[in-house]
Amino acid sequence: MNKTQHDKAEARRQYVMARVQIECNGCWTWTGGRAGDGYGDANFQGKRQGAHRFSYEAWNGPLAPGMHAGHKHGCATPTCVNPEHLEPQSPSANSLEQVSRRHERRVWTPQDRAQAKADVLYGPGGYHAKAVRNGMSRTMARLIAKGVLWVDVPATSQEAA
Ligand SMILES: [Zn+2]
Repeated sequence: MNKTQHDKAEARRQYVMARVQIECNGCWTWTGGRAGDGYGDANFQGKRQGAHRFSYEAWNGPLAPGMHAGHKHGCATPTCVNPEHLEPQSPSANSLEQVSRRHERRVWTPQDRAQAKADVLYGPGGYHAKAVRNGMSRTMARLIAKGVLWVDVPATSQEAA
């Protein structure tokens, strides 16, 4: 890294450090702007991008094309931009992680899961209708239908049980 590159990286790190609150669990909560999806928004030298990607790259260098900066397991703060809590993730791993995070907010009983899975597999309508009906995201409905999530859940409706 030459001096200009070093100074640029340093400026990016200072930009991040001026906009985080360091929590006792080690997370760096982004206090700057928020994007529409609730994630932090960095606006550095006229270029807007996701705060966690920006922070990851400020310490680790550019991500490979197509990769996202995703939260490691153990960091449960969506607005955390601590580069040590982030890792390069492929888009599918990234969306799986977001799905499981949303999924954790709802308490599913075994019967709920079995009925929801039966509806996703055999119910009428597209993924959107199924997702709305079952209180899940469309991505989650698609992943259940493809056998990625809930692999061990039996698909049974209440009538059949
Ligand atoms: Zn964190």
